[in-house]
Amino acid sequence: MSISLTEDQIALQQMARDFAIKEIAPVITKEREQSGEFPWELYQKMFDAGYSTMGLPEEYGGGGLSIFEQLLINEQLSQYGDVGFLASCSSGEMAFGPILNGGTEEQKKYYGKFIQEGKIAAFALTEPESGSDAASIRTTAVRDGDEYVLNGTKCFVTSGGLASIYTILATVDRSKGYKGITCFMVERDRPGLTVGKEEDKMGFRMSNTVDLILEDVRVPVDHRIGEEGQGFYLAMKNLDRTRPIGSIGAIALAQAAIDHTVRYTKVRKTFGKPIIENQAVQHILADMQIKTTAARHLCYNAARMIDEGVLDSELGSITKTFCSDIAMEVTTNAVQLFGGYGYCRDYPVEKLFRDAKLFAIFEGANQIQRNVIAKKMMKRIN
Ligand SMILES: Cc1cc2nc3c(=O)[nH]c(=O)nc-3n(C[C@H](O)[C@H](O)[C@H](O)COP(=O)(O)OP(=O)(O)OC[C@H]3O[C@@H](n4cnc5c(N)ncnc54)[C@H](O)[C@@H]3O)c2cc1C
Repeated sequence: MSISLTEDQIALQQMARDFAIKEIAPVITKEREQSGEFPWELYQKMFDAGYSTMGLPEEYGGGGLSIFEQLLINEQLSQYGDVGFLASCSSGEMAFGPILNGGTEEQKKYYGKFIQEGKIAAFALTEPESGSDAASIRTTAVRDGDEYVLNGTKCFVTSGGLASIYTILATVDRSKGYKGITCFMVERDRPGLTVGKEEDKMGFRMSNTVDLILEDVRVPVDHRIGEEGQGFYLAMKNLDRTRPIGSIGAIALAQAAIDHTVRYTKVRKTFGKPIIENQAVQHILADMQIKTTAARHLCYNAARMIDEGVLDSELGSITKTFCSDIAMEVTTNAVQLFGGYGYCRDYPVEKLFRDAKLFAIFEGANQIQRNVIAKKMMKRIN
């Protein structure tokens, strides 16, 4: 919508929309969403279509798509399919990021093999005692000859219960703060690694979210990604690259909510006329669209800049915060305009509202993003 795209990009969008409508939507029914049972057959179709690995370089089994192309596809898969399912399918890209940024050629090939075989990978940074303050993690990695011994508990690991390999952040020296954080690849079948409880979430119910428990898990030194102390940097660098791809999911939900609400208010009548004929309602709808369109353009621009080689973490934080705040505002208004039915599971907007909330919490809560933005402003403006 109101954006110049090449014919190839339009084709990518169309294919993703068709896939979401034909393959994802019929599987992720209201009941399935409530149960949260992961649809492995559908995952296989996502993998076969290349959607779960589209951003990884071709030499490691991915599709090699640009950030902007991935964003176009994710927007369609989220708007017409399911944003939680997409999160679980694409967790491998988040997990592979630090390896791409700092791994050796052997490590990239090794990790890439899991991806090529259609296995799922997961990224584990957050812990019960450290989410926003990610630099204070307590999971330790102690060198013992040619191995590291990992101990600790991770939480909120997306796809953690489905994954065959993990990218795990642990500290080699807590007194060094983020400078002690080190990144490891850890296979699921390593003795001492267990998957803990699965979260029963408000939204994103098709994404699997679990604890990981590490008890004397031994990994060889060649499983360390980069140098000791580089892990935090490698993980944050990856987030800077991928933020617009995540943020577009929020915009997709907002647009889906707008479309449902326009259709509903055209047919729902009060006082003898459709609700949409009230100018007060039209203005709410117009504001929903104005903000969603503005946020979409911000996201598209941020993605295109990254593809041009400009990594601007302030812009990434602004994009993440703006898109998620808009998605929450728009889906809240959608529920409002559906009235009592908006609050009921038989109508689509309550799910969009539940899904939208997560965008302001994960990948760095919006308050933390605001801290980052304000810090940059204080440095930049004298
Ligand atoms: C569904 C889901 C999936 C996730 N997937 C992953 C994953 O795959 N891998 C992973 O590592 N993590 C994952 N996370 C973790 C996520 O990134 C954290 O939940 C998030 O960073 C917030 O941390 P927290 O939950 O510990 O909240 P807290 O850090 O306890 O913060 C609670 C609230 O306080 C606010 N707050 C905290 N500190 C400040 C401050 N200094 N100033 C102002 N406000 C502040 C926060 O903004 C937040 O609103 C996931 C989380 C969820 C819910």
